[in-house]
Amino acid sequence: MNLYNIKHPTQRVNFAQAVRQGLGKDQGLFFPAQIPQLDNIEQLLALPLVERSQAILSALIGEEIPREQLNQMVQNAFTFPAPVVKVEEGIYALELFHGPTLAFKDFGGRFMAQALAAVRGDGKITILTATSGDTGAAVAHAFYGLQNIDVVILYPQGKISPLQEKLFCTLGGNIRTVAVKADFDACQALVKQAFDDDALRQAIGLNSANSINISRLLAQVCYYFEAVAQLPPQARDNLVVSVPSGNFGNLTAGLIAKTLGLPIKRFIAATNANDTVPRYLADGNWAPHATQATLSNAMDVSRPNNWPRVEELFRRNGWPLSDLHSAAVSDGQTEDTLRAMYAAGYLCEPHGAVAYRVLQQDLQPGESGLFLCTAHPAKFKESVERILSIQLQLPAALDKHNRLPLLSDTMENDFAALKAYLLHK
Ligand SMILES: *Cc1c(COP(=O)(O)O)cnc(C)c1O
Repeated sequence: MNLYNIKHPTQRVNFAQAVRQGLGKDQGLFFPAQIPQLDNIEQLLALPLVERSQAILSALIGEEIPREQLNQMVQNAFTFPAPVVKVEEGIYALELFHGPTLAFKDFGGRFMAQALAAVRGDGKITILTATSGDTGAAVAHAFYGLQNIDVVILYPQGKISPLQEKLFCTLGGNIRTVAVKADFDACQALVKQAFDDDALRQAIGLNSANSINISRLLAQVCYYFEAVAQLPPQARDNLVVSVPSGNFGNLTAGLIAKTLGLPIKRFIAATNANDTVPRYLADGNWAPHATQATLSNAMDVSRPNNWPRVEELFRRNGWPLSDLHSAAVSDGQTEDTLRAMYAAGYLCEPHGAVAYRVLQQDLQPGESGLFLCTAHPAKFKESVERILSIQLQLPAALDKHNRLPLLSDTMENDFAALKAYLLHK
């Protein structure tokens, strides 16, 4: 697989390099030089999720990873289903939250872990990351049990929900979690300092495995195929897909699926009050505001870092950017929508509700709609219970972690202490 840096197109890398490096020169994003047009879409749609995903990823990645090894990676990563549920006439939900941390990031995170394990070379690898809650869980579960990859996750002590803490601080093994006596920004600053320390980086093979890694996007392409495969045939024509967007990785993956030939008529990018993209599409000015906290907090992003990839795809495919519809949904509207959905028989959470609302507003006669449900309602238990006046059961997987003891170490906000911790396992 050949990829180039969108900022410096002369910088070329293969899949292994792109996965290991994450970002290119000047923080540029890597992007596939070619995306093939698949001529066997119908046959692919007839396959089960894992087999189909192996074929799609093989078409994208090529011979760089031997097919047998790739098959194994996909099988290890995609261990849970992505069901499509009919919500009302002509509108369907794609539930992406049946993985171990109950959010769609399990798809990308688990495949990225497999990819990194496959292309790592000989040296030791240490994944170091800071979390304010959710990404830590996805990273910890994705890398748990992988040989010769250590994971260290920093989080602000007492500032994440007890449930979130239980979800990733109870694993042990190759996952070490550290409660830092400081806030999230301080945790992030410690991580940055570690990456700036060349000697430390070399010594422990530091890697960030962060959200812009190309392997995540490639994995996410697969569930768009899974959605179309499950839709009734009449809903496959004129299909509109609404994506609840924060960093716009999810939307990028959908656009890659369309480029491969998956029959999707158009996409909708739904955001919360962090509305840089809908404003940009309306007036052509890229003018991020300060980030606002909202109910759909995984989408609280005002400078979406995958946006250059979205524009690159539209440009390369010759699609007008005006084909991409986008709108922002306020917290008040999100609450109303959640209540209306619940009354109509579908229990959702804020991120999915944002996507549903914009889809419902934008869908034209003759079109069918699909919206992506990116998190389990129990993951946003406090807001969902308050808004809907109900009590939610925890899914069994979460409940199991809830009963286990916390294994975290604690640390002062002190880089020397972190360095010693990382060097002396
Ligand atoms: C990360 C996340 C999103 C946003 O996805 P992007 O790829 O960043 O646009 C939406 N919903 C949930 C629950 C998330 O965790």
